[in-house]
Amino acid sequence: MDGLLIGDKVTGGSGAVLRSINPADGLTNYEIAGANAADIDRAATLAQQAVRDAGWRKQKPHERARLLSRIADAIAANGEALARQQMIENGKVLAECRAQAASAAATFRYYAAACETMEAETPPARGNYFGQTVYEPYGVIVAITPWNSPLTMEAQKIAPALAAGNAVLLKPSEITSGVGLIVARLALEAGLPPGLLQVLPGNGRETGTALVNHDAVRMISFTGGTGTGRAIAAVAALRLIPAALELGGKSPNIVFADADLDAAIEGVIGGIFEATGQSCVAGSRLFVQRAIYSSFVERIAAAARGLRPGLPESSGAQIGPLASFAQRERVESFVASAREEGGQVLAGGQRPADQALQAGAFYLPTVIDGLSGAATVCREEIFGPVLAVLPFDGEDDLIAQVNESVYGLACGLWTADYKRAWRVARAIEAGTVWINTYKQLSIAAPFGGFKQSGIGREKGLSGLRLYQQAKSLYWGLDG
Ligand code: NDP
Repeated sequence: MDGLLIGDKVTGGSGAVLRSINPADGLTNYEIAGANAADIDRAATLAQQAVRDAGWRKQKPHERARLLSRIADAIAANGEALARQQMIENGKVLAECRAQAASAAATFRYYAAACETMEAETPPARGNYFGQTVYEPYGVIVAITPWNSPLTMEAQKIAPALAAGNAVLLKPSEITSGVGLIVARLALEAGLPPGLLQVLPGNGRETGTALVNHDAVRMISFTGGTGTGRAIAAVAALRLIPAALELGGKSPNIVFADADLDAAIEGVIGGIFEATGQSCVAGSRLFVQRAIYSSFVERIAAAARGLRPGLPESSGAQIGPLASFAQRERVESFVASAREEGGQVLAGGQRPADQALQAGAFYLPTVIDGLSGAATVCREEIFGPVLAVLPFDGEDDLIAQVNESVYGLACGLWTADYKRAWRVARAIEAGTVWINTYKQLSIAAPFGGFKQSGIGREKGLSGLRLYQQAKSLYWGLDG
């Protein structure tokens, strides 16, 4: 199958061959050859021409908005095909894939509206001149994405980058190459000029490295693991180009004794086990106040045991497979390390027995107790359905434990005391804090990480500014 989109053509690549495997049944979806340096060169030249082309540079924001709205419509009209493509590539349950296709369309709509309302600034003059600050595109952007949610994550980069007037070279994860290709074809059909959105699948080593090092690339927008983010940041530092980094997490979910415990159970279970734990904001560390620790943890373990694993397409499935067999092995090795370090597995800790699931990369929702915060599964991002539970006494003890993590992506907080919620929410080092809820996400709110969870904020108007650089103009009024 041809998997690259260069200019306005779907074409074969000249790089390493990628095989897409459906993690629900182990069968091959397709094989494509990824992009090599020569493919990237061709696409980068076309992208440069497309951004320099007066037609695109001079388009008024409201005209770009119209185009983005048409892309949103095309995504919405093809939502089912997009959802199914993501489902066969990463195994996410169909209901969630459908919701993510709708969210991708909404993202394009949001940035169409942002385009319409984008403003320049007039800073107060300090002399006899009129001052103006305008925001201009960088030019060619490379967007690199992971495999867990290509539908939403790619839209979150492509829509604002185009809205800001850039051209985008998209490199999806080698596990999920297909979604971006469909979106790019829809964008072309909706009238996006060729060269402004091109898709270059391939592995990180060959394609990713060549892209971030390409001279034409003026900015990098990356979502993925912290280790990869660090390597990309090093390239960006040498090249002196900006890099926006959305990285990993080890997010805490905190339950105080006075919380609505039924709501907290639901939030904690959904927070970690939705998407089979493969979410950057997964609430993978559960902190429970000591007074209710045993009874609450027992209820969490029972709820985890009650979740139904199933084939992604089946309507009753609450837990799909992991996105790849390698990812399941990774999860299994983390659970083995927890056992070696003295943890007690209260739920899961193994593959499901159901015969219908044996060919897939399934793993049961797992709850682990009896470890200290220093244990491997309490420190490292697992990116799988594994919840580590820890007790805390008071607020100071809690905040010290929570902030010990090198990560700072998100946090959930369950309490009936709003003053305490305010104190704790402000003390936690995280880019998003949910109070008596979890995993609510809005395209209108900035999203990103503190500490090693990233640099920069996607979404909202900051997500548009990410792809623009300020230029200040001074209009002299003397003489
Ligand atoms: P990786 O960091 O392994 O890969 C992410 C992307 O980077 C892939 O497209 C990968 O290519 C590419 N890549 C790998 N090495 C390089 C390189 N040297 N130069 C350029 N590109 C490279 O992450 P995963 O795909 O495994 O995704 C899981 C990670 O993503 C988790 O850590 C998770 O927390 C994080 N994530 C963060 C989110 C956030 O918003 N903060 C959201 C979702 C996920 P390929 O895989 O094709 O080799």
